[in-house]
Amino acid sequence: MTRLSKSFFVTQREAPAEAVAISHKLLLRGGFIRPLGGTAGLYTYGPLMWRVLTKIERIVREELDKIDAQEMLLPQLHPAEIWQESGRWSVYLAEGLMFTLKDSAAEGAREFGLGPTHEEAVCDFVRGNLTTYRQLPFTLYQIQTKFRNERRPRFGLMRGREFIMKDAYSFHATDESLKKTYGAMYQVYSNIFSRSGLNFRPVEADSGAIGGSGSHEFMALAEIGEDTILYCDAINYAANLEKARSLPPQAVPVAHPGPLAKVATPGLKTVQEQARLLDIDVTQIVKNILYVALKAGTEFPVLVSIRGDRQVNETKLKNFLDALDVRLATDAQVLDFTGVTPGFLGPDAPFTLKTAQHITDPSAAALPYFSTGCNEQGYHWINARWGTEPGTLPLGAVVDVDTAQAGDRCHLKPDAVLESARGIELGHIFQLGTKYSRPMGVTFADEAGAAQPVIMGCYGIGVSRLPAALIEQSHDADGMIWPLAIAPYQVHLVLTNIKDHAQLQVADKLYQKLQDAGIEVLLDDRDERAGVKFKDADLIGLPYRLTLGRDLKEGIVEVRERKTGTTEKVAVEQVIEHFTRLVQTGHST
Ligand code: ATP
Ligand code: MG
Repeated sequence: MTRLSKSFFVTQREAPAEAVAISHKLLLRGGFIRPLGGTAGLYTYGPLMWRVLTKIERIVREELDKIDAQEMLLPQLHPAEIWQESGRWSVYLAEGLMFTLKDSAAEGAREFGLGPTHEEAVCDFVRGNLTTYRQLPFTLYQIQTKFRNERRPRFGLMRGREFIMKDAYSFHATDESLKKTYGAMYQVYSNIFSRSGLNFRPVEADSGAIGGSGSHEFMALAEIGEDTILYCDAINYAANLEKARSLPPQAVPVAHPGPLAKVATPGLKTVQEQARLLDIDVTQIVKNILYVALKAGTEFPVLVSIRGDRQVNETKLKNFLDALDVRLATDAQVLDFTGVTPGFLGPDAPFTLKTAQHITDPSAAALPYFSTGCNEQGYHWINARWGTEPGTLPLGAVVDVDTAQAGDRCHLKPDAVLESARGIELGHIFQLGTKYSRPMGVTFADEAGAAQPVIMGCYGIGVSRLPAALIEQSHDADGMIWPLAIAPYQVHLVLTNIKDHAQLQVADKLYQKLQDAGIEVLLDDRDERAGVKFKDADLIGLPYRLTLGRDLKEGIVEVRERKTGTTEKVAVEQVIEHFTRLVQTGHST
């Protein structure tokens, strides 16, 4: 194993100011990672980090091998052509997410990209080798460095420009076969994250324009998480905010609706002002918001009518439209597309473009009477209704584009209320269908001999993000607290005085014997004060500290559990047995 006196081991008292996340701070202070050339999102994994990553990889391999997934390795340097075949080259370039390079020596300066994900590469591998349905199903996986030019690399290992991912791809002749593997993978992911000591939750995830129920994310619950999870424990529903459904709180009913009327609302800017001025509740208002969608290279306006107190979920909107992007229209665009002053749009906005679309969220569609814009500056309707006859307003396509939030009612169990939590995405499993196999011509001959596009699933885990998520959940004021399964070492053997010959001898013997018993031990035999060693031990957070101190004269050593801080006196001759038991069961008795 490792003697610190012979190791490159450097810790720091303070983390640099730019580190915000606790995991980032502690990993830097413990010397686990170091930014390459000071660049954000680019880290060297030091020896301690590498041991953690190796252990995570081992767990990943063990669990995947159980379901007969086969490990392999695809290139990281991808010719542009395979990404052009799937149609994603231009998408990734437009988003700036892929690092690209040119081989200027090649004729026509051939272009390449550094792999951010490997659907194209694995499809290219499989299409050369797949002929018949008899070869299906199978699952391939790799553990490898990915490259993504993230807009905001941050929080250390959490969002890097270069990071380690496990990505798996499954291939099927039928949807049932895909669903079966997907279900097995769901279990594999749960096993991997449980074994790694994480507090996690699988949630329904946005599966982009492909839609369907075919996607789950596994979220580590932590305040620093960039995702919001909404859940209802009454019925075990949990979903990413991007995808979550809910029933908004009931609208306040309009007590005595009068006839439709146009009322003066000069200078109104917000629905709150509208509610105050008209002495109504915000839930009695329909607001009309103009978006500009980008699809197939063209832009078109989309008007969304939604209840006054609700917010539009742009991911849902984008998916429904199957658009590349949707953006809130600027004031100039509102004028340009409708001729109406922003703030006064009605559900029947007079569009100048035929391609315009009108979507009404169920929250607004459910209102019997409401106040809304009437396409005239300085005026709003009151007592408006949906309908087709004169004096009513057109409903448009009723589509859920509402942002669910904590406090909403559960759509599956309306008497229960949704709660929210923050999560770090550890992994994502996805039923792809034929999204890649079709354009890339990955086919097989079915039983009748007809060529069919193969049905695919894909499954990712952020291997290098996982330990950062773990630390976010498992630390204290003194440092990290590693669980046995992925700790860099299991035992931190501390020699308090290297000048004490007897101590040195016992340390050497225990160091050897522990290793012989299969226990991973880090020996702190540096010429440092005991206090310094204890501080470092707490910082790097190995599960158990074994201290040789004054009691050694009586043949006694101290064993301290990092997580609880509890200590036990153990006789020297009992140490190996003691740790064998601890490492096997997590209990000393
Ligand atoms: P995110 O929403 O966090 O950007 P993603 O949806 O783009 O992630 P996937 O393409 O599903 O991520 O990648 C699979 C896994 O790889 C993710 O679940 C996550 O754990 C990890 N991952 C993704 N991007 C990064 C990154 N920049 N740095 C570290 N890990 C990452
Ligand atoms: Mg994802």
